[in-house]
Amino acid sequence: MKQKPYSFPLSEYITQEKFNTIKKMASSKKTPFLVIDLDIIKRNFMELKGHLPFAKIHYAVKANPHDNVLKLLYSLGSNFDVASVYELDQLLRLGITPDRMLYGNTIKKKENIQYFYEKGVRLFATDCETDLNNIATFAPGSRVFFRLLTDGSGADWPLSRKFGTHPDIVFDLIKQAKKLDVIPYGLSFHVGSQQRDIGQWDNAISQCYYLFESAKDIGVELGMINLGGGFPAHYNEPTAETNIYAQEIERFLREDFGENMPEIILEPGRSLTGDAGVIVAEVIMTEKKAKHNPYKWMYLDIGMFGGMIETINESIKYPIYIEKEGLESEYIIAGPTCDSMDILYEDYKYPFPSTTTGGDKVYIFTTGAYTQSYSSVYFNGFPPLEAYTIGG
Ligand SMILES: *Cc1c(COP(=O)(O)O)cnc(C)c1O
Repeated sequence: MKQKPYSFPLSEYITQEKFNTIKKMASSKKTPFLVIDLDIIKRNFMELKGHLPFAKIHYAVKANPHDNVLKLLYSLGSNFDVASVYELDQLLRLGITPDRMLYGNTIKKKENIQYFYEKGVRLFATDCETDLNNIATFAPGSRVFFRLLTDGSGADWPLSRKFGTHPDIVFDLIKQAKKLDVIPYGLSFHVGSQQRDIGQWDNAISQCYYLFESAKDIGVELGMINLGGGFPAHYNEPTAETNIYAQEIERFLREDFGENMPEIILEPGRSLTGDAGVIVAEVIMTEKKAKHNPYKWMYLDIGMFGGMIETINESIKYPIYIEKEGLESEYIIAGPTCDSMDILYEDYKYPFPSTTTGGDKVYIFTTGAYTQSYSSVYFNGFPPLEAYTIGG
């Protein structure tokens, strides 16, 4: 199975003018680095908001925590899904107010809960009794929402197993919450990141509906569903566009809830920032490991430890572009470190011009999410990935 490589014009996301700016940066800055086009984040945010105007957007900070990204989204009216006290401190430092935040991580220490509470956050995710009790003790009177387990199937980057719990346990937690000093407020789930199967939201929303009804039987009115993230960015393999996701999700909600639509929260990360990033890297060298092997190896100055960890198991396939002419040959792509795991793509062969050689610039598109924040700290001495923003 062979996918088409990205060819220029690379995308409708990075304009030719922006790409020229990036190329200029490539000639003066040391590679690798990430360029984030704030105009694209703005466009993606407005687009999602436009398609689901009734939903409250809480940007998942972990996708791209660059100060300028957070400031831009704040100015556009976004709220935030915060996962740690460090993210919280960063948002507060930027002047972002706690009423715009929820503590979305189900895994937290008591003192973390207390810290969020002291700083003014009043909305918490939970998926087990220990954590629920801790919230009641250290964040009394707060609203809580219960996270449902999903299996992540259909997603390129599943978030299954670790988060959420079965509906029957959610029901027990709702019962428990009634007795505690917390407000059982709603439900949440995450269908898996880069979710290509829109039907996964249908399954999860149906479970929510069933739990809303069961909660009523014990006198609890739930009022909110947090639909999580999972909306796509544009990588090599095609996916439906945002408007289709929005249309379908709204239809699923209406089918179950009719006119009694609960408050809806979305937590997009990848779909807001992914398209906005271009990593500029350089070919270190190319090599053939056996005389008659049809594939060449290409070593880049960025790899798994430099911010491209989502290539693990070749999960995420970034569009890659090398500005050269010539017949194409197929390459195996690997990073610069002395770890044999540092191979980006081996099964999936990228066709590049056979004239590609050391020193050539490589443009890796759709790298605005889960790259810089994932890059290691000086593994093999390589510094963490630099990032610059343009536009905005
Ligand atoms: C990571 C995460 C998100 C963002 O998911 P995307 O697929 O990047 O949109 C949303 N919600 C929670 C709880 C997360 O952990």
